[in-house]
Amino acid sequence: MNTFMTVSLYAPSKKGETVCRQIQSRVDELEQILSTTLPSSDVYFINHNSEIPSSLKPDLVSLLDFCGQMYEKTDGLFNPALYPVIREWGFTTGEYKVPSDERIRGLLLHTDFSKLYEDEKIELDFGAVGKGYAADQALLILEENGIKSALLDFGGNIQAIGKKPDGSLWKVGIKNPWNGEVACALSVESKAVVTSGGYERFFEEDGTRYIHIFDPATGRPSQSDLESVTIVCESGKYADALSTALFVMGKDKSVSWWKNQMTEKSIPAFDFILITKSAELIYSSGLEKVIEPIYQFESVKSVSLNLNSASK
Ligand code: ADP
Ligand code: MG
Repeated sequence: MNTFMTVSLYAPSKKGETVCRQIQSRVDELEQILSTTLPSSDVYFINHNSEIPSSLKPDLVSLLDFCGQMYEKTDGLFNPALYPVIREWGFTTGEYKVPSDERIRGLLLHTDFSKLYEDEKIELDFGAVGKGYAADQALLILEENGIKSALLDFGGNIQAIGKKPDGSLWKVGIKNPWNGEVACALSVESKAVVTSGGYERFFEEDGTRYIHIFDPATGRPSQSDLESVTIVCESGKYADALSTALFVMGKDKSVSWWKNQMTEKSIPAFDFILITKSAELIYSSGLEKVIEPIYQFESVKSVSLNLNSASK
């Protein structure tokens, strides 16, 4: 998955090693299915053939189903079918370029994820959800083995299992987008903590920064007013998909979308932390007791469901 993954767990050493190895082979197995670059992968097959095979591996069925749900709920802002567009900009190879408007328009014609089984030209990329899904799978292995305390770092996607062995909460640092230091700390127990940031991967041309998170509406790197979005919830795949989606939504839409989803209870409860380009820190009220701002933000604001938000 093109990143480093670290598993820290607490168990008798022999058992710990066995469990780590089990996680490693499960992640390898997912890589063999989801990779866009391994010619033997299922996603590679889909991307290079004009049809979706009728029998798909259960992991792929479950991910496609989840992505379909997220695509719909985010009005298409979370879209794993943007691959041809992202490739055209050079993000798959590092040979970056700004494509013409006409070229982008043409490629966007085949990025409607809801037409997955109808559009022969559709190509997939699970870059925005794969690490979160893999972390959920690792979590299952830990649970099956009775591991009560562990911390997964799957390329910056954090999954805390239980508490620390000494009974205290896990402390997770959220990166300062401007200097790479810690912007705020978060104390968690049994939660996924996933951040999407424009500072992670980008190129610059003629003074403009082009980031690796795309706005499906324009086929261009997102121009959102956010520097980063962190999602805190029980499930890694939700945290991963939502961090990408809220990033594209931007500040105001993210807050109103969260209120709607939490009121309708149509997706599992989640909390968010937004760091805006003008250095505001905005977080959902569920984090009030566990978040600790470290950076001197311009303003710090907590948002709650009852429509009034309290400024601090
Ligand atoms: P990272 O993987 O860097 O932690 P994300 O989870 O936000 O960050 O995923 C970004 C990746 O997802 C991009 O590199 C690209 O492959 C893909 N992507 C970009 N924009 C979108 C989008 N709007 N919806 C779904 N996937 C996207
Ligand atoms: Mg993501």
